[in-house]
Amino acid sequence: MRIEARLLPSSRAGCHTGTRERDSFWKMPNRRFADGEVVMGRWPGSVLYYEVQVTSYDDVSHLYTVKYKDGTELALKESDIRSQSAFKHRKSQSSSSSPSRRSSSRSRSRSPGRPAKGRRRSSSQSREHKDDKKKTISETSLAPLSLKPSENNTRRYNGEPDSTEKNDTSFVISEQKLKPDLEIARVLEQYSLRPRKEEKKKEEIYSEKKIFETKKVIEKASLKTIEKAPSKTKELEFGGRIGTFTLIFFLPATVLYLLLMCKQDDPSLMNFPPPLPALESLWEARVFGVFLLWFFLQALFYLLPIGKVVEGLPLSNGRKLQYRINGFYAFVLTAAAIGTLLYFQFELHYLYDHFLQFAVSAAAFSMVLSIYLYIRSLKAPEEELAPGGNSGYFVYDFFTGHELNPRIGSFDLKYFCELRPGLIGWVVINLAMLLAEMKIHNQSMPSLSMILVNSFQLLYVVDALWNEEAVLTTMDITHDGFGFMLAFGDLVWVPFVYSLQAFYLVGHPTAISWPVAAAITVLNGIGYYIFRSANSQKNSFRRNPADPKLAYLKSIPTATGKGLLVTGWWGFVRHPNYLGDIIMALAWSLPCGFNHILPYFYVIYFICLLVHREARDEHHCKQKYGLAWERYCQRVPYRIFPYIY
Ligand code: NDP
Repeated sequence: MRIEARLLPSSRAGCHTGTRERDSFWKMPNRRFADGEVVMGRWPGSVLYYEVQVTSYDDVSHLYTVKYKDGTELALKESDIRSQSAFKHRKSQSSSSSPSRRSSSRSRSRSPGRPAKGRRRSSSQSREHKDDKKKTISETSLAPLSLKPSENNTRRYNGEPDSTEKNDTSFVISEQKLKPDLEIARVLEQYSLRPRKEEKKKEEIYSEKKIFETKKVIEKASLKTIEKAPSKTKELEFGGRIGTFTLIFFLPATVLYLLLMCKQDDPSLMNFPPPLPALESLWEARVFGVFLLWFFLQALFYLLPIGKVVEGLPLSNGRKLQYRINGFYAFVLTAAAIGTLLYFQFELHYLYDHFLQFAVSAAAFSMVLSIYLYIRSLKAPEEELAPGGNSGYFVYDFFTGHELNPRIGSFDLKYFCELRPGLIGWVVINLAMLLAEMKIHNQSMPSLSMILVNSFQLLYVVDALWNEEAVLTTMDITHDGFGFMLAFGDLVWVPFVYSLQAFYLVGHPTAISWPVAAAITVLNGIGYYIFRSANSQKNSFRRNPADPKLAYLKSIPTATGKGLLVTGWWGFVRHPNYLGDIIMALAWSLPCGFNHILPYFYVIYFICLLVHREARDEHHCKQKYGLAWERYCQRVPYRIFPYIY
């Protein structure tokens, strides 16, 4: 079957030699369009056609799975698909009946997903589309596409030659709804002309790949209900079921181990295992009460109607969620609250004295939260599940997060936990450690090391809150579901492990000289500069690729319509923001001196985390952008560390 498909001449490729033509004459083609091919797909329930890319074909149901530019995937019948050339031909023959023309006249006023109420149709179109009247229509942010006649029918999305590289301002169309014909034509100009031979070879490769949608999609599609194809997670990360099961126990155990080690007079690795405390000493109801108070205070700040409301990136169904940006205000209010407590002689080093109990309270809370998240995710609609946490295996989905954006009303649980209780809590813990150091060692001033650690990490947290909007384009928000991994990470790992250096310094004072302090500060400054400018560059580009401030940057287009920056920081290495982050992590550990490796746990772990994260992101980007990503990798060969990795 696959061999036949390979031998069959495609009407568009049309360049096969005699033998193949004879073969094709006797064997009926079972599909007209090849995987990867860019064609025009009819939007269900309408007469509007959009550029789509064929991702797979099912021989049983005879349905093509196609991907629209906004990422929406639908299963379409062959009759709902036209080759670009046929489409253009029709358009030039009869402009009045061309669907594209209709589209173009409505491009600003109607989303293709909206019901086609009161729309005029020719009788032939009515006949052709009467089957679709009952189809479910999904709302998307796609704008109708009308194509300009073009002499060349072989333009395809794929790896782009250097000549297609544009400054981002010329690529505005790709990411936005607004698609005037002129701009569309301009973008089409950017798609490469694939040499015939290479194109054929590629089709052959594709036809050999078995990339089919799940049975469920096919069943649904054959019931003529066209909706977003539910995507099951097929490739399991973090060691799959066994790996995630292990991590659920390993992560809390690691936190406990680190904190116990840090409490030892000699926290050297040789001193393993640290003495285990009595179980009952790990839990105190009052401490748990303080933790709950903290969590709900932050929730209250989050709910305050201050700060702007912005839209997140489009979801797979085209919808955009709204987020209130008031993390920085929450931080200021928290600072005022802590200042008031200190003014009234509240002993903040209570946190230090009960540090382990706080960590256990936070861990217990994150576990309960994860269970709640998983239970509620079972009722979530398929389209609201996380692409990475929908494997059908309980342990895996529980760990990675089943639901992408769990919300109670407008309260977004993941977004809230990402930057508020844990991140702000980290700064408060650091401050408590600073005060504890002064108290325990009878100092009138904190040590220079403690000041550096506190200031560097304060800068990091304030920066994250000040640029809160940027979190909306990160993997955590756009890809990962909200489950144990993020709940534990946000509420336990970040505040209790990231504050390890400050905790260490309380029990292990380390004196550093001013020149050393200055050198470490410079290092932190360099890291911060790289981290901030790289993140801002990408975030601004994703938000508005036409931003005049980014006019000096170059990008290459991709099949999804989004561009990839190939100059600036993102042309230096493929994850410049990770590089900056790692440099900062080193600067946070250096003030602790070189007596023990324990305070360097953060930088070691962080390198592992970001190398693994980079690999995950790389994998996702390869899937998303295909050849364009490969081209980007050729152009920018190093992942994080220039000339090293
Ligand atoms: P990134 O912010 O690095 O985002 C990766 C995404 O950026 C890709 O999936 C892709 O998404 C887009 N992208 C990749 N290359 C390009 C390019 N050339 N041009 C334009 N867009 C591109 O991912 P993270 O969420 O991992 O990190 C965000 C920040 O958070 C980083 O600074 C990181 O260091 C930090 N971080 C901190 C942690 C901590 O514990 N302190 C933990 C994890 C991260 P698309 O194309 O879909 O937009």
